[in-house]
Amino acid sequence: MTIQLLTNDTIGKIAAGEVVERPASVVKELLENALDAAATAIAIEIAAGGMERIEVSDNGKGIPFNELSVAIQRHATSKLLRFEDLDDLTTLGFRGEALPSIAAVSLLTLRSRPLDQDHGGLLQVDFGQAANAISLGASPGTTLTVEQLFSNVPARRKFLRQASTESGAINRMVASYAAAYPAVRFTLTIDGRRSFTTDGAGDLVGAATGAWGPDVGAAALVLEPLEPSAAVPGVSVEGWIGAPTLNRSHRQHLVFFVNGRLIQNRALAYALEEAYHSLLMVGRHPLALIKIDIDPASVDVNVHPTKAEVKFADERLVCRAVSRAAHAALTQAPRDDLPRVGFRAIPSGSDVRQAPMQIETRTFANHPIATDESTPAQPGKSALPALRVLGQVGASYIIAEGPDGLYLIDQHAAHERVMYEKILASLSAGIVEKQPYLDPLVIELGVEERVVFDKSGDELSIVGFEIEGFGEGSVVVRAIPAMMAGVDIRERLSLILKELSEGGAGDSWLDSVAISAACHTSIRANQALSLPEMRELVAQLERTAFPRACGHGRPTMLLMSQTDLEKQFSRR
Ligand code: ADP
Ligand code: MG
Repeated sequence: MTIQLLTNDTIGKIAAGEVVERPASVVKELLENALDAAATAIAIEIAAGGMERIEVSDNGKGIPFNELSVAIQRHATSKLLRFEDLDDLTTLGFRGEALPSIAAVSLLTLRSRPLDQDHGGLLQVDFGQAANAISLGASPGTTLTVEQLFSNVPARRKFLRQASTESGAINRMVASYAAAYPAVRFTLTIDGRRSFTTDGAGDLVGAATGAWGPDVGAAALVLEPLEPSAAVPGVSVEGWIGAPTLNRSHRQHLVFFVNGRLIQNRALAYALEEAYHSLLMVGRHPLALIKIDIDPASVDVNVHPTKAEVKFADERLVCRAVSRAAHAALTQAPRDDLPRVGFRAIPSGSDVRQAPMQIETRTFANHPIATDESTPAQPGKSALPALRVLGQVGASYIIAEGPDGLYLIDQHAAHERVMYEKILASLSAGIVEKQPYLDPLVIELGVEERVVFDKSGDELSIVGFEIEGFGEGSVVVRAIPAMMAGVDIRERLSLILKELSEGGAGDSWLDSVAISAACHTSIRANQALSLPEMRELVAQLERTAFPRACGHGRPTMLLMSQTDLEKQFSRR
């Protein structure tokens, strides 16, 4: 074949393939145009996953009649004059590629009327062929309708997912924008049914409630500006993160905006999730809406065809700002994000003489809750209020009273949290206290235990074990972490190795070893505790940084609030 120039039609279809991958990318481009036009209300309607029809209407500044036919030409934009202007770009668009790309692969109808003109215009483009614009009465703003998307590109059409999958992707993307732009009223209609609407009142939590539902709004912890000493210069972070009680098995609700643009970035997601470390179970992910603002000159938005990724001049700096903001929000989280225990009301007249709640106060000696004066509680800094211990239920849960109600504390999970933070503290201080054995202990290991032991030797010695292999299937223990003194090492070591052989729960192997060691050093359920023992445990829990979950992310406590009590007793 001789070398020839491609026809405009072919160039258009090829270029369109990059910008508009799927219906959701069409919606995103149109929505970004509406935001660039300073719209305060945007209505989006889709049919059959956007493949049949997409319509985006806004009340923004509109397109003048004589510019309609320019808007659909390739590389025509009102947002950028020179390449250098990218360094102080304030709009989402800048390439002038979206409308011509969409027009090349669909039936596109553009209706628009600028506020200061008394009539509007209509322009139709039929798979790249533009008709003449005609004058039309219209309300101010712009409406774009896209029909039969990709029907002239069979290859692309073949690769589209089911309509329901595309609708889901559009819903997620629009909800993210709606949550990030609380001053804009968004409405999304899918196949004739209202999917959601936001109120445009300007409040982040209100927008989250509209876009993602009331449970998300209720659990949103708003990020506060960092203290000047902790702030990261040049990077501002706004938004909210979900309380750990609200979590998902996927990361689809971890949403990042950079200078108003929805982006994907693994490093940022990782930095955020790290702040939840040990507050969430393995495999669970938080929800968050993070809006990062940064000097446009230190982020390159021109690295990805659909602008879904950006490149930061200093990515670590941005990650640091995100992780600090998230950390601050999590440590200051209000107490009422605790899971609530509901009382079951006993109907009056029925037999109320049921088995009473048993309050155990027997004292047991030889418990492993060592008294600890080393880290005095810092008044005002505790993430828990001072709790008054009342007793124990089922030899497993501590009942305590706080200013806001009744707390039920899982003694094992609570102690595990205490032990885990002690291990972390001694690791970071570099001082690990050991208790040597006068008579080294020889323990026989199963095959799997032995495999994990061989893999974990370094980590076990960092947390305070001195153990060596001894013949084929045994190990010899010469010293143990001092905090494990008094427990049955034979049994606990085997439990630690067993848990590790199942994969470990931490972010690193050392972390997994620390979590397992903490877990299997802790007092267990079904162990009666004396009042002083319980008080000591609760006092130590109050001193931890994250008292509300154990190292595995299980909750340590439940709250029954005063209000719950009053409601259940029909006092209010
Ligand atoms: P870009 O957004 O990169 O400029 P587009 O192809 O998306 O390129 O749009 C081309 C031009 O059409 C924009 O620069 C803008 O002037 C105009 N335009 C598109 N959509 C709208 C809208 N909803 N309201 C006002 N103007 C619009
Ligand atoms: Mg655009």
